[in-house]
Amino acid sequence: MDVEQIYKDANALLEGHFLLASGNHSSRYLQSAKVLEYPQKASLLTDVLAKMIKDNGIEADTVCAPALGGVVAGYELARSLGIRSIFVEKKEGGMELRRGFEVAPGEKIIICEDIITTGGSALKAAEAIEALGAKVVAFASLANRGFCKRVGGHNEAKSECKLPSNVPFFALEDFTFEMYSPEVCPLCKEGSTAVKPGSKG
Ligand code: ZN
Repeated sequence: MDVEQIYKDANALLEGHFLLASGNHSSRYLQSAKVLEYPQKASLLTDVLAKMIKDNGIEADTVCAPALGGVVAGYELARSLGIRSIFVEKKEGGMELRRGFEVAPGEKIIICEDIITTGGSALKAAEAIEALGAKVVAFASLANRGFCKRVGGHNEAKSECKLPSNVPFFALEDFTFEMYSPEVCPLCKEGSTAVKPGSKG
């Protein structure tokens, strides 16, 4: 499966001159919600992710996603695995289950995101779930921005990665982009202006 081409076809992999949330500039940007716009395509992606997880001997009862970004990916992954799907929501300093969602002590949970950058939200979701006595058996995302090491990937974990190294992390593809501080950005030097992805104009 050519994951990068699927992202390009869905206009989820943008090329241009972008201002990232970190303040850095980049010539590429992942608009990861776009690849989930068509449910049939989304389920093709999560079917492959589910197979990777099963082939590595991971068994789980439930997929839990950090809202909002992970919800659709988590739901589709749960469908592909034939298990339950829940999500946690932001609260002051962390995340929590709401809406009547519950986990049982010892319940095996996969934390799923659409994209893992440093894994901060995924880690907060895992902490919320484990505080309730359930066990996080894996992390999963469609795309890996290359800071964390995925099972079968070539990149080593960087210091920015917040995921625990003793829990496997599954992703379909590494999307490692060059990032520049504005002072040394070659795109700025060529005279163009960095735009915030997703904003108009
Ligand atoms: Zn620039």
